[in-house]
Order: sequence, then C-alpha cells, then structure tokens
Amino acid sequence: MAMYPCTFGPNHRFQGAQRSAYISRAASTRPSTLKHRLCKQHANTLEALCDAALNTVTPETSGEQSKVCEAYDCVNPRSETFYVRLFNEQGSDPDEFIGELCELHAETLADELQWRSMLRVGDA
Ligand SMILES: [Zn+2]
Ligand SMILES: [Zn+2]
Repeated sequence: MAMYPCTFGPNHRFQGAQRSAYISRAASTRPSTLKHRLCKQHANTLEALCDAALNTVTPETSGEQSKVCEAYDCVNPRSETFYVRLFNEQGSDPDEFIGELCELHAETLADELQWRSMLRVGDA
C-alpha cells in the first residue's frame, strides 16, 4: 500500500509503486508548477491526455516556437505553454510533453489534467 492517496480524481488509496507528474503552466504572468501523485492507472490516463494534446519532447521538437494554438484546427493566438514531466519510477528519466495553447484550450486541458486538485511542489 502506498503511503499517500492518488491525487487524480477523487483521492483514493492504491497498491504498488507511486508515480508523479509535474505540470508547469507559463502564461504572460509568472510560471507555476504543480504536482500529481499518481497510481499506475492514472499515470497512464495522464500520459494519454498529454499524448493527445501536447508534443513529446525530442531534440527535434525543442526549440520550435509556434505563434498559434497547437490544438487541432485551432487558429487562436497562443496564450500559455504547458510543460509536463511524468516520472515512471524513482531515478528514471521522465517522459516530457510540451505545447503552446490558446486560452480556451489551456483551460480545457487544465480541467482534463485536474489542475485544481494538484499538490504544491514540496508537499509529500
Ligand atoms: Zn489513481
Ligand atoms: Zn486553441
């Protein structure tokens, strides 16, 4: 039994290894980073959401700067950068996702990723 509940969805206890995700949002204001403590199932859910909405960080994608929202078919100006690091287990390199989104799509993604139930970095 992990010591702390998963923070995705209604808090729930889980068996097995704990995974964590750090999500940063940078708008014109100061960037903020929050943390999810995840069970395996919800780590997979979060990974699928990031896969659908953001780009996987590779040497080829880093450095590109888009001016419009990257959501499918969206032409609104970008308003926020999302940067997600998903850690599989202690010490391994995280999966990284990044994307530039307009205000609307940023809010939609924040809801999907359950931004409001995330922990402050530094909490257990
Ligand atoms: Zn969970
Ligand atoms: Zn958009």
